[in-house]
Amino acid sequence: MDDGALFDATPYEAPPQPDPYEGMGQDARRTARRRELLEQGIHPITKRPTRPDLGTCGDCANLVVKDIGRKRHWFKCDLALSGDVYPTGPDVRKSYPACTGFKAGADAPREVTP
Ligand code: SF4
Repeated sequence: MDDGALFDATPYEAPPQPDPYEGMGQDARRTARRRELLEQGIHPITKRPTRPDLGTCGDCANLVVKDIGRKRHWFKCDLALSGDVYPTGPDVRKSYPACTGFKAGADAPREVTP
């Protein structure tokens, strides 16, 4: 940098990182990433700390069911939904450990309109 320039303008190139999920399909990658987060004590849906002592997502009042008919439905977390007209968000497994957003008092998952 002796050419009188104020700053070194050499572009920074990050070294390539190995892909820990190489060869895996999209669903398998997602499952592996979620498993890793759970092992770190992070809930894969809300990214909040897990609280397995509270129960599971299946026990939480924030669990909602999105039913699109034709006997197809998915469980979602109310805290991770976006969009008022057509709420979307990641699928939740009822067996996931609870997170710090856990709300007690779930009888049955509330239904959201697709
Ligand atoms: S415990 Fe409740 S708030 Fe937390 S991710 Fe599960 S459903 Fe959502």
